[in-house]
Amino acid sequence: MALSLLSGCGGAPAAAPPSTTAEATRVSQRMTASPGPGTVSAVPVPPTSNPPSSTTPQAPPPVVVLDPGHNGANAAHPDEINRPVPAGRGRTKACNTTGTATNAGYPEHAFTWDVAVRVRDLLTANGVQVVLTRPDDNGVGPCVDRRAAIGNESGAAAVVSIHADGSTDQSAHGFHIAYSAPPLNEAQGEPALALATTMRDRMRLAGLPTSTYIGSDGLSPRDDLGGLNLSERPAVLVECGNMRNPDEAAAFSSPEGRQSYAEAIAGGILSYVRPR
Ligand code: ZN
Repeated sequence: MALSLLSGCGGAPAAAPPSTTAEATRVSQRMTASPGPGTVSAVPVPPTSNPPSSTTPQAPPPVVVLDPGHNGANAAHPDEINRPVPAGRGRTKACNTTGTATNAGYPEHAFTWDVAVRVRDLLTANGVQVVLTRPDDNGVGPCVDRRAAIGNESGAAAVVSIHADGSTDQSAHGFHIAYSAPPLNEAQGEPALALATTMRDRMRLAGLPTSTYIGSDGLSPRDDLGGLNLSERPAVLVECGNMRNPDEAAAFSSPEGRQSYAEAIAGGILSYVRPR
């Protein structure tokens, strides 16, 4: 059973994603014109409201849930991880899977855990409260429905699952962002699509190539991923690339490479939860 899971967390994606329009950033500027004939000069006007003071209540830090795919002991506990659980849209799926690995044997669960910890540290340094769906890389599960519940219960501003794929086509490479489609609730609609496009744009800006083999333009709408189907918060699944591709395997297997992915993912999250 575990071998059937080695294709990773991919599978047949749904139809091509809809095109999106970039969000316009509205910048208002308070100006005034000086009196006097012939000359009109624009002078910024200071805010009329009281400036913030130390007693001004601060907005609570946004909560972000990071969901590192799979877990280190899944392969040794097939009965637990093959147990069917609700996966949304009236379906059931296996509780969890073993994930994939590079040809040299570096496992996806170790990759996703290491990247998630790096993303956590980057977000925490920027004032974001981070919840991880698993405490380490030595356990079993949690099941996909439980992972979704952790995001829902925390009231997360964003839920980001981190994975890497295992296409047997070794030339296939590049990242893609999966999101639930058609949406099953409001959060899975525009908010999740905005999170997906923001993440895609930020990863592309970091120089990472979009997928050559799944989705379109780095986006992949899916109706079969339990964690996304069951989410009531804006949620995406980042497939960082193909662990069977030699170049991406080398990047995933090095601390420097994982840091690059972590910085791109953290940048995408920060752009979404704290748009400027
Ligand atoms: Zn995976």
